[in-house]
Amino acid sequence: MDAKELEKVMFKKTDSEGNRLPALHRYKYMARRLIEASKLILEKYDGNASKIWKGPASAKELENRFREFKQVGQKKASMAVNILVRDYGIRITGDESGIDVSNDVHVRRVFRRTGLITRDNGKEVVEIARKLNPKYPGELDYPAWVIGMKYCKLSNPNCKDCPLNEICPKILT
Ligand code: SF4
Repeated sequence: MDAKELEKVMFKKTDSEGNRLPALHRYKYMARRLIEASKLILEKYDGNASKIWKGPASAKELENRFREFKQVGQKKASMAVNILVRDYGIRITGDESGIDVSNDVHVRRVFRRTGLITRDNGKEVVEIARKLNPKYPGELDYPAWVIGMKYCKLSNPNCKDCPLNEICPKILT
């Protein structure tokens, strides 16, 4: 199937009975990316995606493996490593100090409003998390993301119910 054909499948609007179908992704170019990712998995991992994290690899090596996929940057790659280690108990060589927080908009917003960083900058988020929790910087990722999604929204943050309410300086500008 070429990218154009796959695009039609991924973005088909209705099924054979006329029911509306959700798009499988936000962006049409993902059809091309999906094909490229499949080729990489075939060529480098014998068609078995789980081989990406099998075999000894440090957190950084794993992150780099994910970053070989086009459109996967620091955010998705570090999230993937975090999820594999935290939720699936995948073993890495060395320790968790190489697992970073992700450069995610919600994580950045919470870090900025709590005064941990001074500007909305992905590099700063990663660096400050390394200082705050050097043994496992990525451990800060999920709590910050949840707070960003649930309470610290872009507009009208719900500080009253936020778990950080008592200690947060609430830098909203
Ligand atoms: S207390 Fe308010 S500003 Fe601070 S993290 Fe929570 S929602 Fe955001």
